[in-house]
Amino acid sequence: MQQMPSVGRVVHYVSHGTPVRPDGSQAFTQQCRAAIVTEVDPTDPDRVGLMVANPTGQFFHPLAAGGCVLDEAPEGARDGGSWHWPERV
Ligand SMILES: [Zn+2]
Repeated sequence: MQQMPSVGRVVHYVSHGTPVRPDGSQAFTQQCRAAIVTEVDPTDPDRVGLMVANPTGQFFHPLAAGGCVLDEAPEGARDGGSWHWPERV
């Protein structure tokens, strides 16, 4: 059954990696970051507001600024700035 996001759930936020260099390398690759759902778009539950906990600080993506959209692609194929349910390990 499809899980629905709700306020207070913990999800993953995908950080934006830095641009890919001509040789294919990247200074910073995309990373999964812990995030708490702060709000859910009532007309589009795949769009949520997040409080993202980075190792060195928090930042916020409110719906008022566009929020974050669910991206269920496999690791490495997700859009930066998207969210997904934490992987089972
Ligand atoms: Zn993840």
